[in-house]
Amino acid sequence: MDAEPLYHRAEQVYATLAALAAERPGVVVPFEVGRSVQDRPILGYRLVDPATPPRGSMLVFANIHAMEWVPTEVALSFAVDFARFPEPGVELVVIPSLNVDGRARVEGDLAEGRNVYRRGNANNVDLNRDFGVNREARAIWKAIIPRRYAVSPGPLSQPESQALDRLASAEQFDVAVSLHAFGGFFYYPWAGLWARAPHHAELQRLGELMQAAMSSHPYRPRQLSRWAFFFRGHGMEIDHLYGEHGALSFLVETTRSGYEKISDLGVKFRMYNPRDPRPHAAEGVRYLRALAHEVAQGRARGVAR
Ligand SMILES: [Zn+2]
Repeated sequence: MDAEPLYHRAEQVYATLAALAAERPGVVVPFEVGRSVQDRPILGYRLVDPATPPRGSMLVFANIHAMEWVPTEVALSFAVDFARFPEPGVELVVIPSLNVDGRARVEGDLAEGRNVYRRGNANNVDLNRDFGVNREARAIWKAIIPRRYAVSPGPLSQPESQALDRLASAEQFDVAVSLHAFGGFFYYPWAGLWARAPHHAELQRLGELMQAAMSSHPYRPRQLSRWAFFFRGHGMEIDHLYGEHGALSFLVETTRSGYEKISDLGVKFRMYNPRDPRPHAAEGVRYLRALAHEVAQGRARGVAR
């Protein structure tokens, strides 16, 4: 039997969503967001209640880091839930996996029983240091803790980040959510600057709204650069989606790590992913639904609108 039986493989994720699209035509529409370094399609799904004209739009994407699989389970559960009960007035785009090559490598590792740490894409670039806004390390700390400040070779150097940028540029989303693991936070911009974002109060409010929607051990909202005094994340997706494309953006660190017992400690996959992702996926549906509802009510508007 394959390792990690409670996690969908990519093929199963896309089969589930293809079945949903066939069952609910006009509600779920698949499209290709772009292609990866190894020419795999990066698939997106547009979900909408066809009876209500869209008043706002929301992007949810997952698995920018190869080994973070709980996020894909969250994105899939939310897409399934939204397809059954679309939030009237919200156009939702879900990308279950942005780093499709990285994910395929991890699938291979699990199938072969290899215990390898994976984060980047097929070029071993950390896609979440590959965006354009706030790439420059200004703090003196970069000389002291350089690893914390590493960025990719140039802005949007990889096809996966280019695909996301093109989509965000075309759609001008009101809100955007990038699903990661682990930590238990609703992070918002800036990631690369200590300064408060112009929409700080609004971002904090939406973070608290998602926090309140969770049923147990709710995640906490926080500006990402204030995770710790020495930390800055340069070239990150949330700064780019907000600073470049005007979306009120969140990086959700799902779970508080997957380590549940001593024997888990050596397992790289387990660091991000608990044995059973289903309770985390169910929580994800709650906080994403709360955010979608806010968009539907016109209470979460992108900066570009
Ligand atoms: Zn991550």
